[in-house]
Amino acid sequence: MDDLLALDAVTMRFGGLTAVNGLSMGVTRGTIHALIGPNGAGKSTVFNCVSRIYRPTEGRIRFDGRDVTGLPAHAMAGLGIARTFQNLELFNELTVLENVMLGAYSRHETRLIERLWPRSPKTRAWAEEILEGTGLKDCRDAKANGLDFGRQKLLEVARALALSPTLLLLDEPAAGLRSREIERLDTILTGLNRERGITVLLVEHVMQLVMSISDRITVLSFGEKIAEGTPEAVRGDPRVIEAYLGT
Ligand code: ADP
Ligand code: MG
Repeated sequence: MDDLLALDAVTMRFGGLTAVNGLSMGVTRGTIHALIGPNGAGKSTVFNCVSRIYRPTEGRIRFDGRDVTGLPAHAMAGLGIARTFQNLELFNELTVLENVMLGAYSRHETRLIERLWPRSPKTRAWAEEILEGTGLKDCRDAKANGLDFGRQKLLEVARALALSPTLLLLDEPAAGLRSREIERLDTILTGLNRERGITVLLVEHVMQLVMSISDRITVLSFGEKIAEGTPEAVRGDPRVIEAYLGT
């Protein structure tokens, strides 16, 4: 199997608490892979290990065939890994367009001034293209904190896309969205995956979205993998049903 991302026995401890316990999983290139599980199962911690905010206590992480376990967080964007956060992390006082332009800074731009404050026509054109694709074009000049919640969530995705990632990590992008907004997110993510070949690793509680777009699902409970497979297989798995009912 052609794994773009591979976790090999990853364990993350915080003092006496084991948040992730010996997790091995692979995300196949070109797929949409969901990571689900009850609150506190360790999903965001997995993202933080992959994006190098935490260094795993044990285990290895490979990206595109390369061991990235020891790399610093700032190196990940250059490799083509972009992420969103469970809680919104936007530049509130900046406009929608500026937020997306800032997201583009580190991948292709080598001039320091552009990295600090990107405004080249090339970056602007790229940001506009992303706003078009995510349906945010109409509010490009609005301040981020003036948007409704659904658009703020989409802007997070748009900003991550500005990096032209190979791998996009999304932490609960549908949380708090209304069903029409969820359908829109579904269309956007499916399109990105099919048309641009972006591999997506998605943490999400909204099962409507997870079941609709995922090629494969990994289920975590108390830091351990309890099931993995297609949406159909996972949906009917008794261990999964038990883990969810137990919360
Ligand atoms: P999920 O995203 O699945 O809801 P998390 O990965 O956020 O779960 O958390 C898993 C467990 O690790 C929880 O018990 C949480 O309290 C704990 N945890 C996460 N981050 C830290 C941290 N930085 N320090 C201490 N404990 C943490
Ligand atoms: Mg979380």
